[in-house]
Amino acid sequence: MSLIVVGTVAFDKIITPFGQSDKLVGGAATYIGLAASYLTDRINLVSVVGDDFPTEFLDRLRKKNINTDGLQILEGRKSFYWEGKYHYDMNTRDTLETQLNVLAEFDPVLPESYKDCDFLMLGNLDPRVQLRVMEQLTKRPKLVVLDTMNFWMDSALDDLVKTIAKVDVLTINDEEARQLSGEYSLVKAAKKIMDMGPKFIVIKKGENGALLMDKTRMFFAPALPLENVMDPTGAGDTFAGGFIGYLAAARDLSFDNMKRAVIMGSALASFTVEKFGTERILDLDRKEIRQRLEFFARLVDFDSVLVE
Ligand code: AMP
Repeated sequence: MSLIVVGTVAFDKIITPFGQSDKLVGGAATYIGLAASYLTDRINLVSVVGDDFPTEFLDRLRKKNINTDGLQILEGRKSFYWEGKYHYDMNTRDTLETQLNVLAEFDPVLPESYKDCDFLMLGNLDPRVQLRVMEQLTKRPKLVVLDTMNFWMDSALDDLVKTIAKVDVLTINDEEARQLSGEYSLVKAAKKIMDMGPKFIVIKKGENGALLMDKTRMFFAPALPLENVMDPTGAGDTFAGGFIGYLAAARDLSFDNMKRAVIMGSALASFTVEKFGTERILDLDRKEIRQRLEFFARLVDFDSVLVE
């Protein structure tokens, strides 16, 4: 099953209460692609960077079976740059700087080999670009998942609403679900957002876990309690990559399988936060992924609770 991953490939600078990074490689599509690469192997990247982006990093992506034919490298231009600072709870952050650079005029051109994709992950990016990618496909994918953030709600809301109307699953964090819907209750927010088009919504609550909902059902997965959390950047994208990667590999889009996909996304995200940037998610082995999934199963395992 082929999977297109659209999103930023970027430079980030991150400040947390426990340390500060230099300029390092990040970007939504980077985390999504890396997470999905542990689950499925036909991953086609769509993004843009400048000629300041390290070619060794692109080689590492290719070694993980991430096809970069749809990645534009613009001569003489600078890559997208984002700087963020986390609050003490590590669950909320302020964006200190966003330099769109190459993203400002990005016009994605899908290689022919991408156009009949089965799964489409529209990672966080300008909603006009997300839409342009959808318009170039020769058939409707089996599943389209979209992730976005407040930056695009503030700067391109109409385009975002138009794009959201065309997708199956929206992944979004709790604050952004409230902003998009104007509702404080996440249940009401989810219902309102589903009325905008998506059949499913996943609300990411950082260290408070993730909620999967459709119009009649709900499933909750906690985040794994970890001893060391260094940098939450990319956790949401890693989650999304694990979620869609699992579904693409299993070819089963039932609600029960989406629950498993939420667990997989959460397990992979738990690695990302342990180190700055992509360091931890770049080189995982099967055994440690399996151990995290077992930890998950133990964490939420209990017998029925009876009331006399
Ligand atoms: P996450 O922590 O999962 O929400 O994603 C963090 C990643 O999103 C960082 O690596 C940034 O490069 C990227 N990012 C930050 N702002 C934007 C934006 N406005 N559009 C697309 N990607 C962004």
